[in-house]
Amino acid sequence: MTIVETTILPPCADSPEAYLDERLQTTSISTLNTAEREKLRAARAAVHRQCAGCPLLVECLYRAVVEVDVSGYAACTTEAERALIRERLGIEVVQSTLTPYGAPRVGGGPVSHEAVLTARQAYPKDTCQQLAERLGCSTSTVKRHLRRDREQRAAEAARPDPTAQQSLPTIDEVLDAFDSLESSQVA
Ligand code: SF4
Repeated sequence: MTIVETTILPPCADSPEAYLDERLQTTSISTLNTAEREKLRAARAAVHRQCAGCPLLVECLYRAVVEVDVSGYAACTTEAERALIRERLGIEVVQSTLTPYGAPRVGGGPVSHEAVLTARQAYPKDTCQQLAERLGCSTSTVKRHLRRDREQRAAEAARPDPTAQQSLPTIDEVLDAFDSLESSQVA
């Protein structure tokens, strides 16, 4: 007898590159021309539709907002939108490499967060473009990793008591904050 196991994978597992596309994180829409805006709108709408139909959406959203500060598009939200939800909920993610999901995902390319920080340390006077050339990645990837590092350092410095337990929001509270996003209405 042959046992056939079927596993349903979420859409992001089928096309991870679409979710890690850095263009999706663009916040300065006003600087884009009409064609670029339309491309961005279409790209966001495509991943948004897939997440909206994903059976893991609620769990994924809760984890991406409350438990792990993942990079990329996830659960119908950009990184900026998840940060906004956290701000509205008054929480912040305590980053740890010991989460059940392992190290958080950083960046869309083959260049790791650590590689960018190591290169920055080794070549402190390099511009982002020069670092990108050394690493063989885009300038925006370098900027993004460096920005993330600055944000993490600032968050650590601003945290008054690292041992203090923050009360976690409920799933309903996260969903309410998500529903208040303008983009959550777009399917
Ligand atoms: S909701 Fe989460 S698990 Fe589902 S497709 Fe979107 S990112 Fe992937």
